[in-house]
Amino acid sequence: MHEMAIAEALIEQVLELARQNNAEKVCEVEVSLGVMRLVVPEALEVAFAALAEGTIVQGATLAQVEKPITARCRQCSVEYQPPPGDLQCPQCHQADYVIVDGDEIILKSLVCDTEKGATQQ
Ligand SMILES: [Zn+2]
Repeated sequence: MHEMAIAEALIEQVLELARQNNAEKVCEVEVSLGVMRLVVPEALEVAFAALAEGTIVQGATLAQVEKPITARCRQCSVEYQPPPGDLQCPQCHQADYVIVDGDEIILKSLVCDTEKGATQQ
């Protein structure tokens, strides 16, 4: 399952960051999802919650922000945000483009708790 692998990488990053910040608990994780990745938010949430169990990320809220596709036309250099499935250039109508954004999954921010005793099951 695609979302499981994403959640795994995500939690790894979160744990690393939390460690650097001496966090006792992670309360909220915000992630930016490029729409090119075709992530199913519900599936990612379930995978994330399952993998977070038993770690300091357990019970954290996962905020998912969708990032639109940005493409750049190689013919006329215009940058545009096409709807998924129709990636051709709106200016010269060529389908000769590079994806410059919307193809990544980025951990944007973490809300951590550094005090002991704030955990809840
Ligand atoms: Zn063009």
